[in-house]
Amino acid sequence: MSEPSIFTRILNGEIPSEIVAQTDTLFAIRDIAPKAPTHLLVIPKTQEYRDVTELAAGDPGLLIEMIELAKGLADAEGDGDFRLIFNTGANAGQTVFHVHAHVLSGGLDESSMNAG
Ligand code: 5GP
Repeated sequence: MSEPSIFTRILNGEIPSEIVAQTDTLFAIRDIAPKAPTHLLVIPKTQEYRDVTELAAGDPGLLIEMIELAKGLADAEGDGDFRLIFNTGANAGQTVFHVHAHVLSGGLDESSMNAG
């Protein structure tokens, strides 16, 4: 068993962060360093998948659930339009190897293409 990721520790209440939405399989928090007026992270409760390629191969249905939750959050908290970013690999800016989607909405311009 690998060490709990920072997101697992948030889910377990060991690190404070408001959980803004959750389902049986997913939860969402606000990014601590927002790059847009709405910047949420949609995260599987399991840390089994390191990145989106592992998730797509291992549980594509869960990836679809992530997209559905992202849309719901963009509707509820942003302007309905959103940018969905999966930094994949350290050279692409991934720092937490527990798959998560950045959901950016509201006031987007080119500068928020990089969520990392
Ligand atoms: P990555 O760089 O792996 O794509 O994304 C990790 C994200 O997690 C970063 O945007 C970073 O700001 C966010 N993050 C890291 N630690 C915490 C934390 O303790 N709380 C919250 N809410 N976000 C965090």
